[in-house]
Amino acid sequence: MNAKNVKGGLHLLVLEGDGIGPEITAATLAVLRATDAQFALGLSFETEAVGWTAHRAGGTTFPDAVEHAAKAADGVLLGPVSHNDYPPRSEGGLNPSGELRKRLDLYANIRPARSREGFPPRCGKNVDLVIVRENTEGFYADRNMFMGSGEFMPTPDLALAVRKITREGSTRIAEVAFKHAMQRRKKVTCVHKANVLRMSDGLYLECTRAVAARYPDVKYEERIIDAMAALLIRDASVFDVIVTTNMFGDILSDEASEIAGSLGLAASLNAGSAHAVAQAQHGSAPDIAGKNVANPASLIGSAAMLLAWLGERRGDDKLVRAAATIEAALDRVIAEPAGRTPDMGGELGTDAFGKRVAEAVG
Ligand code: ATP
Repeated sequence: MNAKNVKGGLHLLVLEGDGIGPEITAATLAVLRATDAQFALGLSFETEAVGWTAHRAGGTTFPDAVEHAAKAADGVLLGPVSHNDYPPRSEGGLNPSGELRKRLDLYANIRPARSREGFPPRCGKNVDLVIVRENTEGFYADRNMFMGSGEFMPTPDLALAVRKITREGSTRIAEVAFKHAMQRRKKVTCVHKANVLRMSDGLYLECTRAVAARYPDVKYEERIIDAMAALLIRDASVFDVIVTTNMFGDILSDEASEIAGSLGLAASLNAGSAHAVAQAQHGSAPDIAGKNVANPASLIGSAAMLLAWLGERRGDDKLVRAAATIEAALDRVIAEPAGRTPDMGGELGTDAFGKRVAEAVG
């Protein structure tokens, strides 16, 4: 029987990924199991291989079975992947992250950057913002075409990349941003480069403004991407919800999470109208893989976002409370210098950090 159909249960697909993926996934599962014991969520887990492990076993980094399992599950936990090192697509090197975003239409990448009590943010002021990044088009040539790639070389000395902006994609991501703002401090900053990309970001701005007009209670402002990169460093505390296109959102969110504390704290959720995938903002960090030093807070926080997303969709308050409990447990553990991994200036190992958060949940 498909576990998704078990009444009251929650079936999650777990994809460990590459590099630090297996270590931070194990720590995250320890926290999810503790949360399940506390809240009786009826969690069940199914593991599939992606990335190098899958490639060694079957010649592809993203087997078709993973897509089917992801669609059948209630949610997916995806560890970081080393897709930069994969062979070409023709030799089985597919980016599992990009494939899931495209095939499950996960158009919204929600990337919070929040400073933690007792752990000073790099900009000196408390940061609590969320970047709402469009996730299916923009400059991502490997996924913004129906067939073929948006990146090509007509001659050995000429390489071109296509940036795709649609009315539908721009409108739906703006809707997500304004809905988030209504639950938060009611401010949206739209980031663009319409002064140069007049047509494509012109269309993007037109769509965002149309959505903004439907939310008169939300303060709306626009910033050009280069200025925004500087403004975040100057004072990230003034921002609430930032909405932007795919690549700008990817870059700004790494900057914002590092300003707020550490990339190792950076959680994110890829969400569509039917599916969601919890995934840390960072990559597979091969430089620290296998050393038990990676900070798993990013994936633990992402798992909490997935529970909250499921809770809101199902009107299940227990899931929403479980997510808030994980977040509070992360806060409590990080507040003590002895509860920090090396990227936060501490000495705790990945597994020990996961254990502490699991205990704090209980
Ligand atoms: P990839 O090629 O998969 O993107 P990368 O190392 O180029 O990997 P990231 O994984 O995003 O890029 O890492 C950037 C830097 O941040 C690296 O120095 C890495 O060690 C560090 N880092 C990333 N994630 C974590 C984490 N969870 N804990 C501690 N340090 C991290």
